[in-house]
Amino acid sequence: MNYISTRNKSVKVTAAEAIAKGISADGGLFVPDSFPKLSEDDFKSLKQLDYIGRAKYVLKYFLNDFTEGEVDYCVRGAYTGSFDNDIPAPISVVGDMNILELWHGPTCAFKDLALQLLPYLLTTSAKKTAAGKKTVILVATSGDTGKAALEGFCDVPDTEIIVFYPSDGVSPMQKLQMDSQKGGNVHVFAIKGNFDDAQTGVKKIFTDAAVKEKLDENGMQFSSANSINWGRLAPQIVYYVSAYCDLLLKNADLKDGFNVVVPTGNFGNILAAYYAKKMGVPINRLICASNSNNVLTDFIRTGVYDRNRKFYTTVSPSMDILISSNLERMLFELSGADDKAVSKMQDELSKTGTFKVSDDIKAKMSELFWGGCCNDEQTLGTIGKVFGEYGYLCDTHTAVAVNVYNQYKEQTGDCRTALIASTASPYKFADSVLKAVSDKDSGSEFGNVDLLCDITGAEVPEPIKALEKAEVRFNEVCDKDKMLLAVYSALGIK
Ligand SMILES: *Cc1c(COP(=O)(O)O)cnc(C)c1O
Repeated sequence: MNYISTRNKSVKVTAAEAIAKGISADGGLFVPDSFPKLSEDDFKSLKQLDYIGRAKYVLKYFLNDFTEGEVDYCVRGAYTGSFDNDIPAPISVVGDMNILELWHGPTCAFKDLALQLLPYLLTTSAKKTAAGKKTVILVATSGDTGKAALEGFCDVPDTEIIVFYPSDGVSPMQKLQMDSQKGGNVHVFAIKGNFDDAQTGVKKIFTDAAVKEKLDENGMQFSSANSINWGRLAPQIVYYVSAYCDLLLKNADLKDGFNVVVPTGNFGNILAAYYAKKMGVPINRLICASNSNNVLTDFIRTGVYDRNRKFYTTVSPSMDILISSNLERMLFELSGADDKAVSKMQDELSKTGTFKVSDDIKAKMSELFWGGCCNDEQTLGTIGKVFGEYGYLCDTHTAVAVNVYNQYKEQTGDCRTALIASTASPYKFADSVLKAVSDKDSGSEFGNVDLLCDITGAEVPEPIKALEKAEVRFNEVCDKDKMLLAVYSALGIK
């Protein structure tokens, strides 16, 4: 297996190169040129393994130039002792839903599953491909990636990490998590703009040849911790394979496969579920759930992607995204690996903010996916309803998924086994979640955490408790077109 660029298939690199670079020089994203197919026997073996064993089993296929020892070192390092649960991705059964809780890591969001591993993958890759160079990780975040990346890369030798987040686009808890990050190699900036501005800015810096040269001169090279990096996606495939094994062990009814519901922003998480399906996990429909920024719902239904629309700041801020960067990888799949067609669509998107897919792609897309959305009121209503009915507290992002799943069942009558990706701890969005279950308000973020705990009895994760006493280290706000200057200043480059 090699990795190719979605915009030029003749660009062929190894896993280490794909991970170390993060993005192809032509602006395309790296994808495997073939996928392993897991057989019934593979699943029989996988079922017997713990999470670390399953992760090694799946990841060895994708890390084609890593030794077995290296894969073992990376996976063990990432998943030993860093999650509050022996199982990093446990399933809770709530009514007819299997809720895959992906938020038991150090930053209480699903990004930890990938970002605890990525630093290991990246430093191992850099040793193979860029001996002696320091890796500079640039991150644009809608809230959760930033903190998870900071935590993963904190004081990792030979790396620096620089995070940009939208100053008014993250929850108070997310902001405090990032602004209080410890470590000698971490840099955090708020920008005046939204997530798409941050992501566009970072992509621009990445692909600027002059900037690359300047870093070269200083013995550094960029990489990405965003889900444009293949090293972010591969670990996410693991938890869908693992969840399938767990459903098998629970004797869930899987004769017609199962549906997966994913609260979606940048399309990384749901794409990983698609790749798991491609590898043989019997997933039926991929249900793509959006908040009021419903660009993907419209796209799945009409085949027209149009980001020229009002941008909403919602109670599920990690999904406040109008340019879903991983969709490019999906388009590559749907078009039958047509790099020219993908380049054309991406080019139109950056020039006009919109593109239309062929009828063939549209048909394939509606077979695989179902798109739905809900607004803030419906999101909070769903949190209240799920808590009232089952005593289960879910966060705002997970609630979007639950709401859309209910719409799906109602409209299609398809009630087969369902796996819902739960992407964050409710305490990460305590203000909004409290509003959904009570009319009390303490007036402060941590007061609301306590209230929420009193009212619901749901356990407060340790990292959230620790945050209350954390010291703020970063408070710089930068202009969205001054991001490069911020990068140079963080790195001490003149
Ligand atoms: C990042 C994030 C999402 C969106 O995931 P994508 O992979 O970008 O689609 C959803 N929920 C939470 C809590 C997140 O942090």
